[in-house]
Amino acid sequence: MLLSGRVLLAAWRRRPGLGLGLGLPRARSALAQLNAVLGAELELIRDAGTWKNERIITSRQGAHINVQGSEGAILNFCANNYLGLSSHPAVIQSGIEALDQYGAGLSSVRFICGTQNLHKNLEAKIAKFHQREDAILYASCFDANAGIFEALLTPEDALISDELNHASIIDGVRLCKANKYRYKHMDLADLEAKLQEAQKHRIRLIVTDGVFSMDGDVAPLKEICDLSDKYHALVFIDECHATGFMGPNGRGTDELLGVMDRVHIVNSTLGKALGGAAGGYTTGPKAVVDLLRQRSRPYLFSNTLPPPVVGCASKALDLLMDSNDIARTMASKVKWFRSQMTAAGFSIGGMDHPICPVMLGDARLASAMAEDMLQRGIYVIGFSFPVVPKGKARIRVQISASHSEQDINRCVQAFLEVGHKHGVIP
Ligand code: PLP
Repeated sequence: MLLSGRVLLAAWRRRPGLGLGLGLPRARSALAQLNAVLGAELELIRDAGTWKNERIITSRQGAHINVQGSEGAILNFCANNYLGLSSHPAVIQSGIEALDQYGAGLSSVRFICGTQNLHKNLEAKIAKFHQREDAILYASCFDANAGIFEALLTPEDALISDELNHASIIDGVRLCKANKYRYKHMDLADLEAKLQEAQKHRIRLIVTDGVFSMDGDVAPLKEICDLSDKYHALVFIDECHATGFMGPNGRGTDELLGVMDRVHIVNSTLGKALGGAAGGYTTGPKAVVDLLRQRSRPYLFSNTLPPPVVGCASKALDLLMDSNDIARTMASKVKWFRSQMTAAGFSIGGMDHPICPVMLGDARLASAMAEDMLQRGIYVIGFSFPVVPKGKARIRVQISASHSEQDINRCVQAFLEVGHKHGVIP
């Protein structure tokens, strides 16, 4: 009988000296020790059913993709390609032109010799799009989140953060030396209590995702801004799952909820709705952006965003500033998918957002159902711990403007079959 990972790990922990003093050369024994520890840890992940396999796509990103090992075109319902701009011809062309004119990359960070007019133009465009004073680019929004809090706040200040904020915010908060308060997810009473506690600190910054990526729920920004006024605090939002399509002009949850002039700092990504290549940014008051350029470590110590990536994002923003037609088509598709699935007996998290988590609970069930969906030509992914809390595994379906009505109906039909097979619906 094979030993489970848990048993192996426990045995290993009882014998911490194993691998040493066995006559092995020192370097080899250290590697053997590492391999044994990691092997047991990996086995634990497999045992828990939370192992993440990566499927290999052999085509462009889009509603219809090819996946290695699967025959024919697969319908993709798990990209953050909300507006279908990742493969938009004008976005691709703009990337090609930027590559041609500005080269593959800068071989430099921004402040040494890594700033091109292309980067300055995109920063100005982002600030204009969000109606903020200035913007600063990063290699990713993960970096923007990792770099902002430490740069802005000191031990005299306080961060008040939603408990379900994205991992990158959690890491950014960890790096920061300000006093930290965590309020219950979207719980305004708890936020107010924490704000009262935090009154003794100099600057108070409320930190929340605009849309929470695992549940598709929208932060109550109006009420958060009311509290920020009452307690003289600043508001920061992460708009990765909102920029480009939430609100009447796609500006984000702050536009949707009528608080664009009350949210002080916005971080977001170029890697989802805005062309999907890569990159992130902070936009907000000029003094904030000026300080980030001087102090933010992922900005100061990491390479400039490559010109083709900048070219793609810049065109995506042009398209969205010219017209909101693409974003508008999505709302009715989201409504249709959610209503069909709910009518069939599935529990769908969030409200009115293209992130539609099909709640299942069990990690193995989520992964087996996702596998069965792929057999039916639908690419969806099961999410389990540590990406979501234990016992809250789900399949996260993401609707894109590029899905046709027929695509959505095929996805619903496959869910009906697979849900029935696994006893999730009658
Ligand atoms: N913030 C949120 C809410 C996200 O969902 C993500 C990406 O998954 C990020 C930040 C990181 O964005 P990026 O991919 O640009 O690093």
